[in-house]
Parts: sequence; structure tokens; C-alpha cells
Amino acid sequence: MLEALKDDYRILVARSGAKALELIEGPSPPDLVLLDIMMPEMDGYEVCRRIKASPAGNRIPVIFVTVVDAIEDKVKGFSIGAADYVTKPFDIDEVRARVRTHLELARLRNVLEDLVAQRTALLEQSEEKYRILADYSPNWEYWLAPDGSYLYVSPACKEVSGYAPADFFADSGLMERIIHPDDLDAWKAHVSSGSGVNSGPQVFRIRARDGNEHWIEHVCKPVSDAAGTPLGLRGSHRDITDRQSAEEMLDFLAHRDPLTSLPNRALFAQLLEQAVMNAERGHSQFALLFLDLDNFKTINESLGHSVGDQLLIGVSKRLQDLLPDSSAIARIGGDEFYIIVERGMSLPGIDLVAQRMIDTLAEPFLLDENRIYIGASIGIALYPTDGHDVATLQSSADAALHQAKAQGRGILRFFSPEMTSRSKARLSLEADLRRALEQQELRLHYQPQVDLASGQIVGLEALVRWQHPERGMVPPDEFIPLAEESGLVVPLGDWVLRAACRQIKVWSDAGLAPRQTAVNVSAVQLNRGHLVKSVKDALRETGIAPELLELEITESFVLADRDQSFRSLAELKALGVRLSIDDFGTGYSSLAYLQQLKVHKLKIDLSFVRDVTTNSGNASIVKAVIALGHSLGLEIIAEGVEEEEQARYLHALQCDVIQGYLISRPLPVDEMTRFMQTFRPS
Ligand code: C2E
Ligand code: MG
Ligand code: MG
Repeated sequence: MLEALKDDYRILVARSGAKALELIEGPSPPDLVLLDIMMPEMDGYEVCRRIKASPAGNRIPVIFVTVVDAIEDKVKGFSIGAADYVTKPFDIDEVRARVRTHLELARLRNVLEDLVAQRTALLEQSEEKYRILADYSPNWEYWLAPDGSYLYVSPACKEVSGYAPADFFADSGLMERIIHPDDLDAWKAHVSSGSGVNSGPQVFRIRARDGNEHWIEHVCKPVSDAAGTPLGLRGSHRDITDRQSAEEMLDFLAHRDPLTSLPNRALFAQLLEQAVMNAERGHSQFALLFLDLDNFKTINESLGHSVGDQLLIGVSKRLQDLLPDSSAIARIGGDEFYIIVERGMSLPGIDLVAQRMIDTLAEPFLLDENRIYIGASIGIALYPTDGHDVATLQSSADAALHQAKAQGRGILRFFSPEMTSRSKARLSLEADLRRALEQQELRLHYQPQVDLASGQIVGLEALVRWQHPERGMVPPDEFIPLAEESGLVVPLGDWVLRAACRQIKVWSDAGLAPRQTAVNVSAVQLNRGHLVKSVKDALRETGIAPELLELEITESFVLADRDQSFRSLAELKALGVRLSIDDFGTGYSSLAYLQQLKVHKLKIDLSFVRDVTTNSGNASIVKAVIALGHSLGLEIIAEGVEEEEQARYLHALQCDVIQGYLISRPLPVDEMTRFMQTFRPS
């Protein structure tokens, strides 16, 4: 056998079992052992057992060489680790083949085992690394076994969820129970697709042990060993509650009014859109309420913005307390609120809700121990009757609110189709008024003013009238406000000035002109016009003495822009014309300021004069105005005097002049001329 194999292999010969074992443990052990069974001292079976028991020999294939061909001996040999048998006498080729095969098998086995050992070592190393990272990670890391039980949960779990890792080991269903129910499906999908190479991070909410909600960003990835055996799922939860609340804050700022936290105009537009869509689908109805605070601007300006802010917060609280949860309230401007109220088929309800809002806002607000009264007006548009779409509904609610405001304060108004026809009427009136100016449909009437001491006519007031071709005589209250809004009052006022001055010239030349003739001037003319120039032009064109002309200005103008008004009035005074404050008592002007302006005259508003003899409150106001006015050197005139008794009473209070139906209604020029020619003091 030695002869047969020596050309192909390096061969070591041991003459006893002990010698063989020595070689195996030695520095260069054989790759294969051919072993006799029958040997002195130690038989082959015992030698084989010992080779297989040693770490060095364990992997070396042992082939028994024997004469024995008995089956039971072979079985015994295999059972103690033999790789094969060759029997004597040999067939030498068979020996060569078996040796070659077993050497090859052993080599393959070694390579394989090395590989496995290497990879196991690697895996152990990476697991170790993972644990080190995971243990110290601020994120809540976990590793799920393929059967869904936890293999690892990092300590940060406690920080985020309030539960200890042990809680998760003990109860693998815990996770699904603390996830927000709304996010559970998404979570399950994410974990099962965890395989998902392209499944990015997933955000969901959990309820922590203390009951607080946390936002979690979750990533996960399946793991397997080098051989591809699945080892489960590794994942990580990151607490992003802070980031989420920052995002929520940004979202909040874009969609909310920071003062009251109510939806702002942008968000409300979406809510209204949504309400229309829902109502359309469900064939249901809702109401859009447009609420405006009555006195807010005055309070804000007089008491300051911080009081104004507190008021707005108080208003929004009262409204929220009052409204059902299904309603949406938005603050869309300084003191304007939109409200959507859902409703059933019955109409009553909305007006009750709206009335309750008005009532609750009519109650005083207690701020810094001040009672502040504010009040509100509401315009109501109904879906679908007053509009099928957002824009129409809003403009209907707008029109209704406009009506409510025009009719007074603290009023609610439902939209009605006439409102749009009325706004159309306003537009056509405006066009008519432009034409009236060109076609000279305007007239001036004059009303006399009588001195109480002498009984003489000391003045006239020019009052404009519109002779409308179809509508007849239109009173100024119906078109002056419109003319002021549209700016038409500027050319209109210029016309009045010129016409009045021309008439003064005529009466002067006839020796009829009283001490002065008054012309009403709108605040708009003073602010936007060129009043000083117009007055100058009118005086120059007609050549009348400036002191024959008086300008009546309302208190509200004086208040609007003090510096500007002071300058304009000073310029007018410098021209030599007289100044009079009209409707005195209805505004808020301070007498000290009027003194500074050095006007000549105060006209006590007719609302005080009307019941001066019966209303002691008004009587004391009139008395005080007369006394104060006189102390400032002002002439006092009472307008709207209709009865003899009022005249006597005013005379007793030392009022200087009266004007009113008692003496005469305003009259057209020729009638006024006759009136002055025939007038005799009584
Ligand atoms: P106003 O300047 O206070 O004019 C007094 C108003 O009271 C006039 O109404 C006059 O007819 C009315 N009146 C006079 N005596 C009595 C009376 O005894 N009893 C009652 N109940 N009323 C009396 P009118 O002419 O309708 O003018 C209303 C307002 O229109 C005026 O109030 C004035 O503010 C404005 N206005 C009139 N003409 C002009 C104008 O040419 N330019 C401007 N800017 N406004 C004008
Ligand atoms: Mg007047
Ligand atoms: Mg007046």
C-alpha cells in the first residue's frame, strides 16, 4: 500500500496506536489516517475513538484497513467515527479512489466550517455593536424575533413611552395597544412592509404610560444572518413631539388668528367651502352669520389696543360658549367675525342663536374694573336660499350686515333679495346724481334765523334740494351720505358754494341780505377737496364781502384729523368767512378745542331742542351749552324750533338765535325773497 500511494502523497508511518496519536497531536497532523484494526496493545477501534475525541483529530477522516469483512465490525467502526473501510487483500485502485475522495471531502468540509466560523464571529461582533449603539441611543430601539416576540428593547423606551423594556418582553401586544387607534392601521402596514426597502420613516402617535400623547417617527428593517436565515425585524422609534409641535405651531400661525386662536380668513375660506360641499351632498342647510362689533373702533382708539385685544378675546369666548360644537367661528378682520351654524329644516333657531349672540355681547365686559359696553350687529345668509356658492353667500351676509348697521345698532338682519336691488338702486342713484350736477337739477332753499332779543332776521341757511325728473324733490338726507361715499360731494359742495354766493350778491344788491348766510360743508370736502380754494374762488367771482358767508361744519370733522382740520379752518378764518359748528351735542368735541379753533357760532342740534321744555335732561344740556358757549365768546343758535313755548324757554336761557319751522320752513329763492321783504319782527 505504501508503494502504491507514495508517489502521490507524503506518508507517515506509525508502528503503534500510541505513536499514531502522537503524530495527530503533533505540529503537522495528517490529512487522512489509514488504520489497522488488529494491533497489539491498543486495537484500531480504540485508536479511532481517541482520534475523534481530540480537537485536532476530529476533522481527520479515518479509513480502516482490515481483513475482516464482517458487517457488524464495519457498523461498529462507522459508529465511532470511521469514514470508510478498505479490506485486504487490496485492490490498489480502489484504495487510491477512496483516499482521494475522502481527502477531497475533508477539504470541502474544512473550507465550509471555516466559513461558518468566520461568519458567526462576524455576526456576533455586529450584534455586539448593535447592542452597544442601541443601549446608548436616545431613540427607542427594538429587535423583534421572527415569531413577533421581543429579542431586545433599548432603555430609551422608558423615556419615550414610560414603559420599561421588560413590559414589552412580557407582553408583545403592548405596542399595538399604546398606538393611537387612528394610526394603528398605518403602523401595521409599515411593520409588515418593514421588508419594504423603500418604505421610508413613518410618523404616528402613541399614548405614553402617563397619558400624554407623543409623536413618533418609526423606521424598521428586516435582519437575517449571513446564510440568509431571517432573524426578525430591527426598528427604531424617535420621539419627534417637539418637532411636531413646532410644525403644528407653524400650521396654526398660518390658519389661526393669534389673538383669539379662532380660524382666520384663510382657514375660514376652506371651512366654508367644506360646509357648502357637505350641504350639497347631504341636501342639508346652514347659515352664514356675519357679525360686526358696534363700538369697537371707538373703544380701541380711546382706551388703547391692549383693552381692545382683551375685548376681542372676551367676545370670542362668549361666542364659543354660546355656539354648538358643530359651528365654526372665524375672526376675519379687526372686529368682524364669520360664523357657520348648521341647522335642521326648521327656520327658527338661527334667529334665536343670532339674537342670543347679540344679547350676550350687549352685556358689559369688565376690564380693569371698567364696565365696557360694546354690542354687535349680525347679517345672516342662508344656504341654499341666499347663495349656492361661497362668494354669493358671503356677499349676501355682507349686504344683510350692512342693512343691520344702517338700521341702528344691536340688530340682526336676514338677507333679502331686495338688498341687492337696493344696492343696485344706490348705484343708479349715484349715476343720476352725477347727471343732476351736469343738468342743474340741484336747487338751494333757504331757511331764516331770527335773533331772540331783536326779533330780526340775522341769518339764512342754504339747504340743498334735488329736483329729480321722475322722483320729484329728493331730500338731502337721501343723497348727501351717498355723495360723501362716492366723493361726488366735492363738486356738489362747490356748486352749492357758488350758487349761495351768487344769491348773497343778488340779495345784497337788493338790500335784503341778512348779516350772514350759512352753507353746509361736508367733512369729505375739507379732507379731500380744495375747500379753501373753492371758497376763495366763489368770493372773488361774486365779489361779496367774506363776512356775509358762514360755513357750517359738523363736530365729527373737527374730531377726525385735528392737525389737518385746525390748519384748514385757520386758513378759512383768515379769508374772513364765519365758522359755525353744526349739530352741536351729537359728537364728542371738547369745548376747549373749539375755543382754540376760534369758531364764531354753535348750533345746538334739533334733537335737544325738540323736547327742551319737557325733558329736564336735555334742558340742562342746552343750558350748559349756552353758558359754556357764552363764556367762550360764541354765539348760540338753536335749530329745529317749532313752538312758541320753545322759543320763550330758549330766550329765558339766553340763547341768541333760533331757526326752525316756527319762523319758516326752508323756502325756494323767490319765496324767501318775498318772506324777507314782508317780514316784521313780532
Ligand atoms: P342741517 O344742516 O342740520 O340742517 C337742518 C335740517 O333741519 C334741515 O333739513 C332743515 O330742513 C331741518 N329743519 C329746520 N327747521 C326744522 C324744524 O323746525 N323741525 C324739523 N323737524 N326740522 C327742521 P334738510 O334740509 O333736510 O337737511 C338735512 C341735512 O342735510 C342738513 O342738516 C345738512 O347736514 C345736510 N345738508 C343740507 N344741505 C346741504 C349742503 O348743501 N351741503 C352739505 N354738505 N350738506 C347739506
Ligand atoms: Mg346745517
Ligand atoms: Mg343741524
